[in-house]
Amino acid sequence: MRALIISDIHANLVAMEAVLAAARTYDVVWCLGDLVGYGPRPRECIALLRSLPHLCVVGNHDYAAIGRLKLDEFNPVAQEAFNWTARALTAGEVAFLDALPNRIIDDPVTLVHGSPRQPVWEYIYEPETALANFELLDTAVCFLGHTHVCSLFIEAEVARGRVQYPRPGECYTLGYGRALVNPGSVGQPRDGDPRAAFAVYDSEAGTVDFCRVEYDIASTQQQMAEERLPPALIRRLATGY
Ligand code: ZN
Repeated sequence: MRALIISDIHANLVAMEAVLAAARTYDVVWCLGDLVGYGPRPRECIALLRSLPHLCVVGNHDYAAIGRLKLDEFNPVAQEAFNWTARALTAGEVAFLDALPNRIIDDPVTLVHGSPRQPVWEYIYEPETALANFELLDTAVCFLGHTHVCSLFIEAEVARGRVQYPRPGECYTLGYGRALVNPGSVGQPRDGDPRAAFAVYDSEAGTVDFCRVEYDIASTQQQMAEERLPPALIRRLATGY
């Protein structure tokens, strides 16, 4: 079984379409949350995901867009984007996001947005945070997003203080200790590479391929400008930070 793993799409339809085209063959899409928020096409991204065989967990931006979080916990630019997203969504789309689970366990894999400890909220950047989360992980592998940074935390490596940052095109074989795997962000990468990020998990081989694909960034930026989304959010897509 091949699972296409996508996270933090953030309503960037052009990037999402580029990823689906580049991934070509997969049996299921696993989406790690933040389908909406920041970007210009939330409705279309929800519809596209729903048209595919998929599993999806909820992210903090999905909750914010449907009013399940207090917006004053976010910066003013993010709040402006949430308000725009909230106005754009239909009742049916709100119900879809509202029904998403915050954790899916399909042994040997767990899917969350943030971390096993705090599935919606916690960011895993540091080895210490990763180690604490291994204690709460019930499966061998956990796919997560939220940081928008493509990264790999293998338990034995993390115990030595080492986090790996897979390069595009690299393939890792899992199974040598437990692993937390972050494919990076489809719609708003923050690891210095503005290309859309995704991963493909092969359950028989136990491998993960880390991938990047170019998309028409200017097209998404134009859609955002037309929707009068904050300029800071428009600019950052081109830098990958
Ligand atoms: Zn996000």
